[in-house]
Amino acid sequence: MTVIVVGAGIAGLACARELVDAGIPAQVVERGRVVGGRLASKRFDDRYADVGAAYVTADAPSFQGRLDSWRVAGLAHPWTETFSVDTAGRRETTTGPVRWSAPGGLRSLAEDLARELDVTLEHEVRALPEADAVVLAMPAPQAERIAAVGVLQEWSPVLTAVLTFRERVWPDFHGMFVNEHPVLATVCDDGDRRGDGAPVLVAHSTGDFARPRLGDPLAAAGELETAVRKLLDLPPAESVRVHRWTFAQPLPGGDELFHRQGDLYVCGDAFGKPRVQTAWLSGRAVAHDIIGQSKLR
Ligand SMILES: Cc1cc2nc3c(=O)[nH]c(=O)nc-3n(C[C@H](O)[C@H](O)[C@H](O)COP(=O)(O)OP(=O)(O)OC[C@H]3O[C@@H](n4cnc5c(N)ncnc54)[C@H](O)[C@@H]3O)c2cc1C
Repeated sequence: MTVIVVGAGIAGLACARELVDAGIPAQVVERGRVVGGRLASKRFDDRYADVGAAYVTADAPSFQGRLDSWRVAGLAHPWTETFSVDTAGRRETTTGPVRWSAPGGLRSLAEDLARELDVTLEHEVRALPEADAVVLAMPAPQAERIAAVGVLQEWSPVLTAVLTFRERVWPDFHGMFVNEHPVLATVCDDGDRRGDGAPVLVAHSTGDFARPRLGDPLAAAGELETAVRKLLDLPPAESVRVHRWTFAQPLPGGDELFHRQGDLYVCGDAFGKPRVQTAWLSGRAVAHDIIGQSKLR
């Protein structure tokens, strides 16, 4: 049996990993230069900053087990349970689930899953490949470019700004949810998150701010910097880098763990509450379905 998994984000990698562990060969094909998809860490000035997912949370026992294994391997660590919340200038602290981060950047977790898998990078799939089963592990609008998958999902964009400063001149806040703001949705202290204390903040925009600026994201650097400086009362940043996510966040999906059309599957974070855990569970659920089908052949 041959399985081709298109997309080396956490969903595709979790799927391939599970298949290979069950003795079913899986080839992963990814258009990017690296694995991880939105579990993304980009290198600026010899240091990685997390530009996609800000942290990882777990409430499913299986994914909690995965995080614990990464902790034992030194790849992930519990970061914080508390975040600041800014609502129109009013500040509070919120306590929530343990948010996990990765000393080597969150993408290192995807790299760990990809170890010993057959992954082809820098290969954009444009038509459905020949295989016994094909898994499109990506946002449905991207899957739709490859095959008529008929999965309707609404997605919202985000612009991420990575701001470096001369020194850490902000009070400890780990990360901040920003409500009712025209530009910002969250700001995270990347040095705190990664554990190296670097004076780097990573801000995510709102979807409404990003949408009209997707054609020229770099032009938004000034507005993003001004918004972060005003929010935290900061001096000018030494550098501002902007990353565009056209399909950043789906509207939360229904009860399905994945979509199946014969031997074609679509999986990812749109099948549940949009987050890393959902993508991982969705990819694994596809693998279990394929393993079950293979026993019927
Ligand atoms: C700004 C931002 C902040 C976020 N914050 C959090 C957070 O704090 N906590 C959390 O849990 N989640 C967060 N998320 C969501 C989290 O990143 C995703 O849920 C998860 O990474 C999705 O994984 P995936 O494998 O489903 O999709 P993706 O990571 O999008 O993977 C899809 C892969 O498919 C590839 N691909 C697409 N088309 C093709 C093609 N034609 N050929 C080959 N390859 C293709 C892409 O390059 C990509 O690598 C955030 C996301 C963003 C963008």
